[in-house]
Amino acid sequence: MKTLAAVLYELGKPAPYATSQPLVIEEIDLEGPGPGEVLVEIIGAGLCHSDLSVIDGSRPRPMPMVLGHEAAGIVREVGSGVHDLKPDDHVIFSFVPMCGHCVPCATGRPALCEPGAKANLTGALLTGSRRIHNQQGTLVNHHLGVSGFAQYTIAVQESLIKIDAHIPLERAALFGCAAITGVGAVINTARVEPGMAVAIWGMGGVGLCAVMGAKLAGATPIIAVDILPSKLALARELGATHVIDASSIDPVEAVRDLTNGGAQYVFEVVGNERALAQAYSATRRGGTTVTVGLPAPTRMLSVSAVSITAEERTIKGSFMGSAVPRRDIPRLLALHEAGLLPVEKLLTRTIRLDAINDGFDALASGAAVRQIISF
Ligand SMILES: [Zn+2]
Ligand SMILES: [Zn+2]
Repeated sequence: MKTLAAVLYELGKPAPYATSQPLVIEEIDLEGPGPGEVLVEIIGAGLCHSDLSVIDGSRPRPMPMVLGHEAAGIVREVGSGVHDLKPDDHVIFSFVPMCGHCVPCATGRPALCEPGAKANLTGALLTGSRRIHNQQGTLVNHHLGVSGFAQYTIAVQESLIKIDAHIPLERAALFGCAAITGVGAVINTARVEPGMAVAIWGMGGVGLCAVMGAKLAGATPIIAVDILPSKLALARELGATHVIDASSIDPVEAVRDLTNGGAQYVFEVVGNERALAQAYSATRRGGTTVTVGLPAPTRMLSVSAVSITAEERTIKGSFMGSAVPRRDIPRLLALHEAGLLPVEKLLTRTIRLDAINDGFDALASGAAVRQIISF
């Protein structure tokens, strides 16, 4: 079938993207679903910093590629061997397909699925297939098995989580990356206990979800660090008890002062090693520093080696919120429906697919938290 999509052909085109137009809106040819695959009509797809990291070249991926990894939609057709999904089912995408058989999957850590990670790195589906061609006949890669910036996409059944049909799909998209990653870092990776001091570096969509997760976990204080007053105001609205503008004061000293020596859990959701070093320094002796952001692959972290031993410190990575998506997405949606996880407050605006390059300018500048493409 023919469908409209946003295709990235070249890494590292300069901002502003409204001028350089790295994403080309064009008609693509989508093959029908093969065995184990599903055709999904995308209803909502979020613009996330991880897409931006592909566009700006800091997380290189094979080109060309239909980007987008935070999405929700409706099943329109299923390939042979798909028994758990049928047409008209509503689904959220997991940006790591979960094979169910590798060691991480078998030990309850599907966010680390090894065949899933390999497929994502090569731009293929978990089945090894690519189902997209452009009008010149060039094979186009899939982004993390999702490719949500398209009216229709093909995904493997291992990338899809069925949800109740009454949940608005534009809002549901946010659960595929922002919510599962941010809340998951707090409740799955760190397992924050009530009354513990938490600090969070970086108030993008994921960081703000970590604030909501910390509130759900009963943490206090909850200290939000960023350099944009608008994002700090939103953090306060979502549960931060204190906010620190790192453009005017030293955030490490400020967190230490507020917590008598450091927070028990500090989350780095910025994606650079300088912020991670600050987060480590703002962590209390015996505490845990959780890294959620994705620095460029060449960056290194330098910390005092002896401090890990003598101060019993822990540094934990958190990928996709250490989530088990089939367990966690329904759980997070239940919290949302109970009013305890107001992710709709992250929604800056809804845009059309042809405004996607302007949308990435707004994300890069911090003018927008989450923008959803509505088809
Ligand atoms: Zn994301
Ligand atoms: Zn696996």
